[in-house]
Amino acid sequence: MLDKDFYQVLASTFRFWYIPPPSMNHTTTKKTRFIFVTGGVVSSLGKGIVAASLGALFEARGLTITMQKLDPYINVDPGTMSPYQHGEVFVSDDGTETDLDLGHYERFTHAKMSKRSNYTTGRIYESVIRRERRGDYLGATVQVIPHITNAIKDAVLSLRADDVDIAIIEIGGTVGDIESQPFLEAIRQLRFDLGRENTAFIHLTLVPYVAVAGELKTKPTQHSVQKLREIGIQADALLCRSEYTIPKNEKDKIALFCNVPRDAVIDVPDVDTIYAVPKVLRDGGLGSLILNQFSIDDPMPDLSIWDDICQKIRSSKMEIKIGMVGKYVALPDAYKSVNEALQHGGLNHDVTVKIIYIHAESLETDGVAALEHIDGILVPGGFGQRGTAGKMLAIRYARENNIPFFGICLGMQLAVIEFARHVAGIEDATSSEFDECAKHPVIALMTQWEQEGGHVHRSFDSDLGGTMRLGGYPCKLIADTQARKDYNQETIRERHRHRYEFNNTYREELERAGLIVSGTLPDNSLVEIIEVKNHPWFVACQFHPEFISRPYAPHPLFSGFIGAVKAKVNV
Ligand code: GLN
Repeated sequence: MLDKDFYQVLASTFRFWYIPPPSMNHTTTKKTRFIFVTGGVVSSLGKGIVAASLGALFEARGLTITMQKLDPYINVDPGTMSPYQHGEVFVSDDGTETDLDLGHYERFTHAKMSKRSNYTTGRIYESVIRRERRGDYLGATVQVIPHITNAIKDAVLSLRADDVDIAIIEIGGTVGDIESQPFLEAIRQLRFDLGRENTAFIHLTLVPYVAVAGELKTKPTQHSVQKLREIGIQADALLCRSEYTIPKNEKDKIALFCNVPRDAVIDVPDVDTIYAVPKVLRDGGLGSLILNQFSIDDPMPDLSIWDDICQKIRSSKMEIKIGMVGKYVALPDAYKSVNEALQHGGLNHDVTVKIIYIHAESLETDGVAALEHIDGILVPGGFGQRGTAGKMLAIRYARENNIPFFGICLGMQLAVIEFARHVAGIEDATSSEFDECAKHPVIALMTQWEQEGGHVHRSFDSDLGGTMRLGGYPCKLIADTQARKDYNQETIRERHRHRYEFNNTYREELERAGLIVSGTLPDNSLVEIIEVKNHPWFVACQFHPEFISRPYAPHPLFSGFIGAVKAKVNV
C-alpha cells in the first residue's frame, strides 16, 4: 500500500500539494465508531445533555466511549469569553479551558475530557495557518476545502483509540448557520470515508406546540432535515424535543417526510431532571438503533445508577436554600458546574437544594437583608473587583452568624481578605488583582516564589498579559481539619483556573489570628484550602471542586457543606 512518506516524497519532488488523508495519520487495531450529533431549528434544546446521555447509554452496556465538542465560533477557546456570552468555562484535568457541555460529558460518563475534546473554528484555523506559515502545504492555495475540513477530520479521528468503542461528537450551533458549514462538510466526508457501519448522524430538533392551534408542529423539523440533506447529510435518527409526548401519527409524518425509518423518530419530551434523559433515550430505543447500525452486540443496558439518582431526586423530603452571591447571577449557566455539584451534595443528604441567586452588587446598595432567609452561602469564582465588596459582606455575615459558608477560588481569596481585615486587623488587606500597588496584598501573584524554584505550570495568555494556573494539581490535607474530615483522605487532586494565590508572606500572621490552612500543595508551598475555627462549616478553596463532582459521586466538599446546612436547618 502506498504510504504517507511515499506521497510526501512525491509531493516535494513534483511540487503539488499533499494533505495526508486523515485515515493515514492514525493507526489503530480496534474500530472506533463515530456518532455525530447536530442540532436544528433553535439552540438551547439541550444537545449537550442529549449527547452526554447517549454516552451514558452506551456505558450502561459496558462499552467505552469518548466525547468531543466542535464549536463554530472563532475564539480559539472560551477562556476569554464573558460568562454572559458563553456560560461557564469548564476546565479539564489537563488544564484545557473548554465549553460547558464538556462538564455534562464528564458528569454523565466516565470519559476524561482533555485538549482533544474541544475544537473551535478559531483553533482549527490557527493550526492550519501555523502550518501554512511553516510551509507545510508546499505552495498550495490553502482553502476551507480541503485544508480546514481535513484539519477538522484529523481532530475527530484523533479520538480513535484501541480502547474506545464509540466517539460521540457534538457539533455546536444550529444547522443552517454559516459558521458550522465546514464542520458539517467534514463530517459528511467522514461518513463517505468510513461508511454507514462506522458513522451515525443524530439530529436533534424541536417539535413546538402551538397553543392556539392546539397542535404539535412538525414543519420546522422537516425544514431542518432538508437543510442537512442539502449538504449531503441524511440523518440516521431524529430526536424530537417537545413539551409533550409526540403522537404516533405525527411521528409517522416526520419519518415519511424526513426520510428516516419510523423507529428512528424518537421523542424527547421535557423531564423533571436532566439525569432522566438516559432513560428517555433508552425507552425510545436509540442505543439499540445505533448499535444495530454498527453491528455491535446490544446487551440490556444497566441504567440502575441513573434510576437511583432520579429516585433520590424525586423522593427528597426537604428543601434548603443556598444563597449564591456572584456577579453573573442573571445567567445561571455561568455557574453550571457549581449548580450541579450543589444538587449532587443534596443527593447525599436527601435534600433538594434551591439556589437563590444574589447579585453581589445589590448587597452593597441594599445591605445584607437578602441573606436573612438563606440557609447557607456560597461565593463562587470570578474575575475583577466589581461586586467584591458585596461578596465580602456576605462572607462576613456568614462568618459572624454561623451560617455555613463555601468559598470557591475568588470566593476563597475574598474570605482570606475579609478575615485579614476584620479578624487579623489588617485593615487595608486586599488582592493585587484589585490594587497593583496594595500595601497589604494578602492575595497576590506568586511569581517571586516561582522564580525561587516553585513549580507550578502557568499557561501564558499573552493578550491578557497574565498567567493562569490551570488544571489538576495535588493537594495535601492537614489532619484534624474540616476538609480532611469531609474528604476522608490525605491527598486529593483538584482543578484550578486562576492567576492569584494566597500570599505566603501573611500566612503566619493570619494563622496566628485563627485562620486554619487545611490544604496545601504537597510541598506546603501554596495554600489551597482555608477554614475558620468554631464555625459549623466555613471552608474555602483555591481550586474549583465543582468540576469533578458527579451525580453518582457527589464531591466531598459539596456534600460536607450541604450536610452542615441541613444540620443547621434541622436544629
Ligand atoms: N480572579 C481570581 C484569580 O485570577 C480568581 C479566579 C477564579 O475565581 N477563577 O486568581
